[in-house]
Amino acid sequence: MRAMLLEAPGAPLRLADVPIPQPGPNQVLLRVHACGVCRTDLHVFDGELPSPKLPLILGHEIVGTIVATGERVENLRPGDRVGIPWLDWTCGTCRYCLAGRENLCDQARFTGYQIDGGYAEYTVADHRFVFHIPNGYSDAEAAPLLCAGLIGYRSLVMAGDAPRLGLYGFGAAAHIIVQVARHQGRQVFAFTKPGDTEGQEFARSLGAGWAGGSDQTPPDELDAAILFAPVGNLVPQALRVVARGGTVVCAGIHMSDIPSFPYHLLWGERTVRSVANLTRRDGEEFLALAPQVPVRTEVETFALASADKALGLLRSGKIRGAAVLVPNP
Ligand SMILES: [Zn+2]
Ligand SMILES: [Zn+2]
Repeated sequence: MRAMLLEAPGAPLRLADVPIPQPGPNQVLLRVHACGVCRTDLHVFDGELPSPKLPLILGHEIVGTIVATGERVENLRPGDRVGIPWLDWTCGTCRYCLAGRENLCDQARFTGYQIDGGYAEYTVADHRFVFHIPNGYSDAEAAPLLCAGLIGYRSLVMAGDAPRLGLYGFGAAAHIIVQVARHQGRQVFAFTKPGDTEGQEFARSLGAGWAGGSDQTPPDELDAAILFAPVGNLVPQALRVVARGGTVVCAGIHMSDIPSFPYHLLWGERTVRSVANLTRRDGEEFLALAPQVPVRTEVETFALASADKALGLLRSGKIRGAAVLVPNP
């Protein structure tokens, strides 16, 4: 099969011919129809996450059709359309897993990081960690739901019931979460890079009542803010515009250093917290909710061999909505 290989952090991906993976006893083999390009892929590409598998096939927002199943797989069969998320496997026995917090599992493994992902024509995944994709979404439209949507949703839950919600960084995750937040009756304030009027217009078109630069003060105090941009400077900036008792949620897996800031920004029972990974329950809840909203994703598709181009456009903030690779057009 054709796959884009990361051979060393920072080196351009290489289009290669590699063997089609064989599913283990608990795995399914998928023909990949779409794979979202996520900010986390850039962090792995840049070497900001420790010890990736190398060479590695990136990609953890995978939609495809099952073509073969391992001997212990009973609930899925060839022809089923499923999605593979970031969470590939958890141990099921550590204290986190036993407490329903498998996202924090001591031994968790992640797709497109510790095992190969979806920048390829085929991939395998543990059948206990894949999701059925709701009808009504094309493969490419569904792909961003699997991380931008899912981890965005977990971040939204962590923000609490906050009626006035700020979203910093209006990329793939925010363009989905603004729709969910509006569906829940919240007011949304979207913050983009200063001067990104196109991004601000996009945010307003999806339901944000106000959109401006991250250096601007919104017209109302916020009850919570979610930082989708991996920029530590935004933590004190968001604290400045969040009301007493409010929460600032850092949604990414990596962030530049958070600068020191005066204690009075945190004072008043404000909270700063991170969100790590996802649980299968998050996936089931969000994929049931998405068609009810209904969440519409805006995607820009790329051929498999253009993965580097897609990563470059994502890095420079030039993707409207989400970038998606289509390995088997
Ligand atoms: Zn565990
Ligand atoms: Zn992701």
